[in-house]
Amino acid sequence: MSRLVVISNRVAPIREGKVAAGGLAVGVYDALRQNGGIWFGWNGEVGQNPETACESAGNITYVTLGLSKPDYNEYYRGFSNATLWPIFHYRIDLARYSRAEYLGYRRVNAMLAEKLKPLLRPDDILWVHDYHLIPFAAACRQLGIGNRIGFFLHIPFPTTEVLTTVPPHRDLFQTLCDYDLIGFQTESDRMAFQDYVCRELDGLIGTDGSLTACGRNFRAGVYPIGVMPDEIRRLADSYRGRRPMIGRTAEGKLRKTLISVDRLDYSKGLVERFLAYEQLLEHYPEHRRNVELIQIAPTSRTDVKTYQAIRKQLETVAGHVNGRLADLDWMPLHYLNKSLERRTLMGLFRTANVGLVTPLRDGMNLVAKEYVAAQNPADPGVLVLSRFAGAAHELGAALIVNPYDCLGMAEAMDRALRMPLEERKERYEDMMRALRAADLDAWRDNFLRDLRTFGRHRVVTA
Ligand code: UDP
Repeated sequence: MSRLVVISNRVAPIREGKVAAGGLAVGVYDALRQNGGIWFGWNGEVGQNPETACESAGNITYVTLGLSKPDYNEYYRGFSNATLWPIFHYRIDLARYSRAEYLGYRRVNAMLAEKLKPLLRPDDILWVHDYHLIPFAAACRQLGIGNRIGFFLHIPFPTTEVLTTVPPHRDLFQTLCDYDLIGFQTESDRMAFQDYVCRELDGLIGTDGSLTACGRNFRAGVYPIGVMPDEIRRLADSYRGRRPMIGRTAEGKLRKTLISVDRLDYSKGLVERFLAYEQLLEHYPEHRRNVELIQIAPTSRTDVKTYQAIRKQLETVAGHVNGRLADLDWMPLHYLNKSLERRTLMGLFRTANVGLVTPLRDGMNLVAKEYVAAQNPADPGVLVLSRFAGAAHELGAALIVNPYDCLGMAEAMDRALRMPLEERKERYEDMMRALRAADLDAWRDNFLRDLRTFGRHRVVTA
């Protein structure tokens, strides 16, 4: 079988099977281990000359390189995370645009393609990940690389009206046509992409479902990223770490807990969630002293301004909720600004009565799936899930909420806290069926099968 070459923004070599958290790393690592291949990308260092370094472990070769300071600022911190990320998450108000940063983004993509080229064999298949690397295939084609290249977008694909706010949108998004297959998390994302291609790139949809635009014929498909439910259940079962002090009264009586885990990002709806929790305690006083919300929020992209602002705002709101409602023997909100190890997290999910996953916009949200998979089947907790998380397309048996409706979220929390065992079990089993039907293996296998099936890069002559 042809060799797989994975290209992602960040590559952290995996030693002795120890995979960092996150679906991308786990899914990609397994695919590479099966057939052998290359994992290519940035090593996370800034200020280095972009010289590639190779490291092999088993049948995987990690090829990584550092970025210079201007490359990092323009490609990563600038255009990727201060333009594309907010716009793709419907936050035009938080986006900024600088032509210099866009040119830097294009320049780094071209540089990465050049560095990869000498390592490629003619029958390798290339799998490119996420919004940092949209023009990567176009840069490869410019260098005469004719291999099959697939792209998977881990974040939402916004509607045409929103996407066209990216000033160089046509220049950028026409480069997507240089891929053979483009994968999305949900059907809504795929439809938004198709709409953009038809309206802005004069594209056509063929009878076989393929798309033709900019002189290229290519496909778009839906491949929701999943988790490995059995592995998560085992981790949750085996967690024997510290039992948190949270969730107990001074006398040791159990309190009900709600848990949320998110990178500290404005797309995650943390402020809205804290305010909804306050509403819960206000409108349903019977929950006071009987519930606690644990929010795990590791910081992220701390050198991007909007991330510093959201952190300040959250600290204010968390302080406000606790200052107003806490008592000597009860702290309603536990806000932890740190990351936890995967096993600890799965153990916490298992003990929490409610999983609160309420992003304003999210490509998928793996935490929602992990929370469900970690539950005890005999006494499962309840998932409260935003309709704007990709996961809501599969987990319709969760309590679906609109994160912009503060009172509606408080009502859903109340309902979750009171839900009888029979209903909890029914909903849990329904969601577990969905998790098994589209697990992490299915995500990877279906994408790679389609990329291998749907022919080589095809140039269409008018
Ligand atoms: N995670 C973790 N420790 C933490 C916080 C998060 O291991 O302290 C993991 C979490 O279990 C999940 C991933 O990080 O697998 C986050 O993925 P998700 O799709 O929910 O959000 P993203 O951060 O990709 O936007």
